[in-house]
Amino acid sequence: MSTNINLENDDFRNHLYNQSKDGKRLWIYPGRIIGTLYKIRTAVSYVLLIALFGLPWLQYEGHPLFMFNIIERQFIFFGVPFFPQDFHLVALGLVSFLIFVSLFTVLFGRVWCGWACPQTIFMEMLFRKIEYLIEGDDKAQRKLAESPWTTEKIIKKSSKHLIFFLISFAIANTFLMYIMGNTAWMKMVTEPPIEHLKGLTLMLIFTGVFYFVFARFREMVCMVVCPYGRLQGVLLDNNSINVQYDFKRGEPRGKIQKSASVQTHGDCIDCHWCVRVCPTGIDIRNGSNQLECVGCTSCIDACDEVMDKINKPKGLIRYDSLNGVTKGEKLRFTKRIMAYSSILVLLLGFISFLLITRKPWEGTLLRTPGMTFQLNEKTHEVSNMYQIEVLNKSFQDESFNIIPEKPFELVWIGKPLQKVEKGKLIKGNFFLKIKEGNWERGTKAYITIINSNGQSEKLKTSFIAP
Ligand code: SF4
Ligand code: SF4
Repeated sequence: MSTNINLENDDFRNHLYNQSKDGKRLWIYPGRIIGTLYKIRTAVSYVLLIALFGLPWLQYEGHPLFMFNIIERQFIFFGVPFFPQDFHLVALGLVSFLIFVSLFTVLFGRVWCGWACPQTIFMEMLFRKIEYLIEGDDKAQRKLAESPWTTEKIIKKSSKHLIFFLISFAIANTFLMYIMGNTAWMKMVTEPPIEHLKGLTLMLIFTGVFYFVFARFREMVCMVVCPYGRLQGVLLDNNSINVQYDFKRGEPRGKIQKSASVQTHGDCIDCHWCVRVCPTGIDIRNGSNQLECVGCTSCIDACDEVMDKINKPKGLIRYDSLNGVTKGEKLRFTKRIMAYSSILVLLLGFISFLLITRKPWEGTLLRTPGMTFQLNEKTHEVSNMYQIEVLNKSFQDESFNIIPEKPFELVWIGKPLQKVEKGKLIKGNFFLKIKEGNWERGTKAYITIINSNGQSEKLKTSFIAP
């Protein structure tokens, strides 16, 4: 692996910054920068890290506050359990999330990537800081990488990778807690390992994946894996606020002119400090719409530091839109923003309505497929056979009463469906009967499910007769 980042890459559209012309990975050693935005980002990321590691420990009424058990298809969101039957809510939630992300990106570019994405936060605020602490700044790191294997290098490298592995282990376990819930996780780590081979294997796999991502793969996640980065070209427009280089002010770039009475070039002194601090190794001066830019703001801090030193106003690189740089325009509320906002408000309104009216159970009624009607010649009654399913979506066992609407009568086949355990789905079969004279073509049958709190749900079904 080469250790020289290609700073003079004028061919930036044709290959990645962290790749040599013959396709080899170029290791990036971002310079250490501690500016105003970095300090704010650090504070924000610590809050987010505490939330990320802390949330799986929170319980509500004896259950995790959040759980995303994809394997057993059980989900808890803010203490409310959701089941595969709530898929429409998940689908609507995902669509709303995508529209929200699109709207947010149209407005504020990649704020998410730089400020809240777990990949950036873990990489820049945990792993990178540890690297700086053990190996020193970018120059020291490069020197260490190029130096022969001495005792000092072995100690530094092995202690760094050991800490990386331990943090990856902690992340993997947190990830597992989100999937299986903290009670099941606790059982897994306290009971004999032989009883939890599947979970422990997953733990090791996740640890390995996180270690690989943060120790080796790093910025490649944002450059080649993350689909969101790919969408930037479509989502951003000239009105979007993003990390921008003010080329009107900065160009033509050139070395600092101490003696010249009239400045013949722009404010950019071509010091490359903004490139050196970039965790993806790019040159923001090539334009803000580069998919490798994660909007981390390091280049803003770096350039502000330079501007301070040469007594120029800060903000040569800043949060602004392309229209802001070229025409001095502020963020406008465009038709596109209006369209996204309206759709989002409608969707959120609809989801809120569905959530408010959502019952803690779900009943499904089906006329038994393949069965025709039964006619009792003696009593002149016609009957149809039905199957009912009741899913108890709550955390308590629940009793149900199933009542047919007159003039139908209900006769259970076997045990009546009454009690449904928490989180369980129970099926029952019954006949609906009606006197021959009470039925005419098109008559529908209704049954009502009532729970112990008196909440009810009416189900409609077809009924056939001679
Ligand atoms: S840090 Fe500022 S002055 Fe230096 S190269 Fe970057 S844009 Fe130019
Ligand atoms: S160009 Fe600037 S904002 Fe974008 S990733 Fe590099 S340092 Fe961060």
